[in-house]
Amino acid sequence: MPGQRADVQEIKSRLSIVDIISRYVTLTPSGAGYKGKCPFHKDDTPSMTVSEEKGLWHCFGCGEGGDLIAFVMKIERLSFIDATRRLAEEAGVSFDVAEDGARDELREIMAEVANAFVLNLRSPAGKKARDYLLNRGYPEDCWMTYGLGYALPGWENVKRAFAKYGEATLLKLGLLVQGDKGVYDRFRDRTIFPILDVSGRPIAFGGRAFEGQPKYLNSSQTPLFDKGRVIYGLSWARERMSQTRIAVLVEGYTDVLSLHQADIRNAVGSMGTALTQGQAEMLKRFVDEVVIAYDQDAAGSAASLRGMQVLRNVGLNVRVARLPLGEDPDGFVRAHGSEAMQEIFESSLPFHEFFIESLKARHDLSTVRGKEQLLEDAREFYADIRSSALREVIERAIADLVDLSIESVRRELPRKRKPRHEEGESRPSAEHWGVEEHVLALVLRGEATWSAFEPYLSPSDFTGANRSIAEYLSKGSMELSELMGVLDEEGARRASFYALSPIRINVEGTIEDAKRWMGRLPAIEKRLQELDREIERSGQEEDWTRWDELQKAKSDLRKALIQAKDAKRKGIHEQQDNQENPEG
Ligand SMILES: [Zn+2]
Repeated sequence: MPGQRADVQEIKSRLSIVDIISRYVTLTPSGAGYKGKCPFHKDDTPSMTVSEEKGLWHCFGCGEGGDLIAFVMKIERLSFIDATRRLAEEAGVSFDVAEDGARDELREIMAEVANAFVLNLRSPAGKKARDYLLNRGYPEDCWMTYGLGYALPGWENVKRAFAKYGEATLLKLGLLVQGDKGVYDRFRDRTIFPILDVSGRPIAFGGRAFEGQPKYLNSSQTPLFDKGRVIYGLSWARERMSQTRIAVLVEGYTDVLSLHQADIRNAVGSMGTALTQGQAEMLKRFVDEVVIAYDQDAAGSAASLRGMQVLRNVGLNVRVARLPLGEDPDGFVRAHGSEAMQEIFESSLPFHEFFIESLKARHDLSTVRGKEQLLEDAREFYADIRSSALREVIERAIADLVDLSIESVRRELPRKRKPRHEEGESRPSAEHWGVEEHVLALVLRGEATWSAFEPYLSPSDFTGANRSIAEYLSKGSMELSELMGVLDEEGARRASFYALSPIRINVEGTIEDAKRWMGRLPAIEKRLQELDREIERSGQEEDWTRWDELQKAKSDLRKALIQAKDAKRKGIHEQQDNQENPEG
């Protein structure tokens, strides 16, 4: 185990989370833990739960949560390192990694490794990666500009080449991985996209596989790389962002690169759709407006909508670009050029219009059930919208959609939320828990073991921040304090939510759900990838009839994917009423 994490564990184990949170919040005993008014949102009822036994806190009002370090980071506005250093002092232990000298040395090592990846790309072994980059439309000068590289195949290239720095340091930097039989290289046979800090220094890597899963692999959380606070491409985009006061926010590395290649130089990457508060604050330093350009079904997902709320709530104006279904910015700009892309950005929808559209797209409004579901869905996000003008617009639009008067909608939206709060139960989104959430909550609360679900699912079946929690649990360990150390901000919020939530979950029912739903998505996703390859091939062969057919098939499959995701999200209780055959 990396030395730093052991230190962090040690620090947490020496301190009382209840004592420290009590300095900021009045806590009163409640059930097995403590309750208090949350300092992170306007909290009339005590919505925050703190558990000494679990070493966690969670606010069921605003959704913030995590371990002791997360609390101190948030309330004192400190970085991970600074918060840990402060707590270390209090605990009377040393926290050596945080020394500035040591950080400089770590940066030096990262720069050297980045350089080695660059050289690999130009070596004979790098041909595969060079071909890939050239095919994707990234010429040689672009490799230089963005520091692209290649990680050699084999398990011990980085480990051997940088042995002089010691395995512990390389592990700490996320360059090596601890396996059962020893440590080995994290990045093997992958095209490498360095992740730079705001000053342009490499602090982490993203690696793209040529085949196999995961397609993209990122560095783990390290002393240099705090995932929840990093924006990909910021050092290249900051100048244009400051000039225009607008950022274009995309998902992936190649989206950022292709937009920059097309002279859209205010593009940055969120590295996934679940934006964090830290990322939003980072963007706020440079811009007033963010144009979100995610692929369409990712943009409409709950994680992405929540991210847009996070952006709005730090005071950013949010617009959402509408790309044709199934296209991402990378593919779009390469196929249609910079001007067409700019047009899409210019006709992007204000957040509230997109919000309404995505509600509409997700529900069948010809049925009463569909309308009810739309209202339920809206309720979850509506509660977080702070602007009353915006609430008014949304109420009106929803009233139109579900054929109710605006007064009824108004009554419907906030009312359902209030009592739940007063009872101090849980955040409304718990209603929307599906199989993933049920499995994680059962295991994190110690009501079931991972092995009970193991035959029916794998961590790759989990989405967003749930996946990193599942990855940890799948290793057979269940040490909450250790888990919190490997998660990013969003992961920590979720894990504390699951671990402390009082919602009753049926173990047998969840096992049934897992059997039924968890395996379906990977098959669809795999077929989609195959289709992409076939589409590319037919494009190269200029077989446009075939190309059309394949695009049609892809669009159908996308719809199936959305349905399957929906099914998985909602879980057994709703699915049992559904007469349709899910495999059809
Ligand atoms: Zn709160």
